[in-house]
Amino acid sequence: MAQTLISDNLRHIKALMPSGVELVAVSKFHPVEALRQAYDAGQRIFGENRVQELAQKVDLMPADVQWHMIGHLQTNKVRVAVRCANMIESVDSVRLLQLINKEAQRIDKVIDVLLQLHVAQEEAKSGFGVGELLQALTVGELDGMDHVRVCGLMAMASLTDDEVQIDREFAIVNDTFNVVKEEFYADRPEFKHISMGMSHDWPIAVRHGATLVRIGSAIFGPRQY
Ligand SMILES: *Cc1c(COP(=O)(O)O)cnc(C)c1O
Repeated sequence: MAQTLISDNLRHIKALMPSGVELVAVSKFHPVEALRQAYDAGQRIFGENRVQELAQKVDLMPADVQWHMIGHLQTNKVRVAVRCANMIESVDSVRLLQLINKEAQRIDKVIDVLLQLHVAQEEAKSGFGVGELLQALTVGELDGMDHVRVCGLMAMASLTDDEVQIDREFAIVNDTFNVVKEEFYADRPEFKHISMGMSHDWPIAVRHGATLVRIGSAIFGPRQY
């Protein structure tokens, strides 16, 4: 995609986005040249969903880029992800969080994470169920991990044109965020993020309190898998 288009797309999206909402430019499958164009247009937060691709791009992009890991993380990739990412948005189990904490401790890092909530209809999507997350928090399974900073929740809505369905799912995320914040993170100012909304549904997500939106194809064009 031509340089002017990527910067035009960014400008267009940012003009529609309320202040206080941060844009994660989802650059998976796009070449570093495309990321550079976005960087030159002022974009600093990039999202990747595969650890190997993330690690390669980190080395090729300026040091002030903030990297968000947004894809399902296999346990054998945790070490590299912890080293490369500024935030891991896709924490979908207590066991994964424990591993992230352990690897972060090993390199003396405190890494930002989001807890991924499963609200979509597709079984294939990962994440904590709402009840499962509340249960884990209640019994203290997330306590005592000093090398992760839990900064909020992440979610994906069902892949559907049904806006009522998407609306309902984002509302569940927002409600869950409020409960979790109040009951478990009230004294943690860093617990402030709701990451939800992609190219096709981000305006709905913003209406439901998204503070981070993850937009790929609307910035970079279609992906070549
Ligand atoms: C690919 C991806 C996105 C961005 O999707 P687009 O439809 O290209 O905006 C957002 N979140 C996650 C978790 C993704 O894997």
